[in-house]
Amino acid sequence: MFNRLRIILSPLFVLKENSRRMSSKIVRIGVCQLNCRDNKEENFKIGEQLINKAKKEEAKIVFFPEAFDYICDSKSLTLEKAESIDGPIINGYRKLAKQNQLWLSLGGFHQRSGDGTRVLNSHLIINDQGDIVGNYSKIHLFDVQAGSLILRESDFTQPGSSIANPIETPAGRIGLGICYDLRFVEFARLLTASSENGAQILTYPSAFTKHTGEAHWEILLRARAIENQCFVVAAAQVGSHNAKRESYGHSLVIDPWGSVLLDMGLESPSMRTVDIDLERIEQVREKMPIIEHRRRDLYSLMSPMNIIVPIDDSKEEKVTWGQVQITTHQIFFRSTLTLALVNRKPVVPGHVLVSPVRRVERFSQLNPEEINDLFLSTQLIARKIEEFYKAKSLSIAIQDGEYAGQTIKHVHVHILPRIPGDFEENDSIYHELAHHDKKEKGWRQEKEMADEAKTLRKLFYPDV
Ligand code: AMP
Repeated sequence: MFNRLRIILSPLFVLKENSRRMSSKIVRIGVCQLNCRDNKEENFKIGEQLINKAKKEEAKIVFFPEAFDYICDSKSLTLEKAESIDGPIINGYRKLAKQNQLWLSLGGFHQRSGDGTRVLNSHLIINDQGDIVGNYSKIHLFDVQAGSLILRESDFTQPGSSIANPIETPAGRIGLGICYDLRFVEFARLLTASSENGAQILTYPSAFTKHTGEAHWEILLRARAIENQCFVVAAAQVGSHNAKRESYGHSLVIDPWGSVLLDMGLESPSMRTVDIDLERIEQVREKMPIIEHRRRDLYSLMSPMNIIVPIDDSKEEKVTWGQVQITTHQIFFRSTLTLALVNRKPVVPGHVLVSPVRRVERFSQLNPEEINDLFLSTQLIARKIEEFYKAKSLSIAIQDGEYAGQTIKHVHVHILPRIPGDFEENDSIYHELAHHDKKEKGWRQEKEMADEAKTLRKLFYPDV
């Protein structure tokens, strides 16, 4: 419908529309709906045509459905056709992204893995230079009876083992999911919960069965958009793929209020563009701040992993830490609720500090999510620091309150790498910890700390 509308717009309106798009956060995205079968070359050719069309229509990023590479009717054929991430299919799409200078979301690629007995179902993000900048393997597998069809995805697919950090793209931060993942509320919330680095678009490239699609597809996708107040983009497979399998189609783009911006019905193969305004997210969230209204003290969102937040170290800024000021150049790690900084007066080399982002003086004031994130971060940082400083053990300590020796009024965990013989009496380190920062001399300069933080940052942000 959107495309049809554009055709009848006057040139003046189009001009105005273009300048509005340039000055605000409006981004044009392309969505592909496919009816893939088992011929990889044919599927690729169609993908290429749709990308060319998206380029002509000035899309910045194009979303493909799950199994855009192929759909077979047997396990053996599915495994036989699988390729590695540097095989011809992904290399072909990388080339197309670079040639056309647009980004691609390639959902549900059959990625050859391990001994070849199972694939990974991987969603890749490729940037306009042709680099792979995101890779998520589906964690919830579709082992389900859908109508008369019994599907056991785990027979030929190995589940992924982590949730990917949202990826920064020209269309905002993208949270990567695949198909069946859309039924898991916690998964979507984990990706979107942080206003700072959470996903602004949830993506669910899919091959939803006709039976489940008729009953649930639009309701679930609109619910994910409404409850998380974000865009949802779900590129889908459509129609009959073989004698056994039929997909529902209806690729959807939904805005943060739950309105459907695009519904591709049963079109195939087809690429449609739609303009999304990222400012819509703030507008909806400002009026109804659901994420802030969550009762973190009564229930929590815990993940067995940190969502690591990128650090912008381009300019140095002051940050309040307890009663003192530190600089952003001292910070070497950020997750949703935690930060880690280098010490101005380390007791031993590699002595670093891990704090909640929220200013909280005492340990008892932390909420469950902060405790979870703080200790997961501490564990991750401790592991890397021990290895980096070639230590053999660690002292990990919190001085909680004035009479326990706490001087900085903001909870912090000390991580101290230990080597054999570093102190004559092993526990003397605690005496030193209590006294080292009470002495006038020995405080480090900002430059030295910034250099150390820069080195440590590489342990967590290898690509930066
Ligand atoms: P505590 O005595 O447990 O409160 O520990 C405070 C820690 O913070 C000590 O190890 C200090 O060396 C360290 N510290 C104090 N001021 C700064 C600062 N501006 N930047 C980094 N570390 C600091």
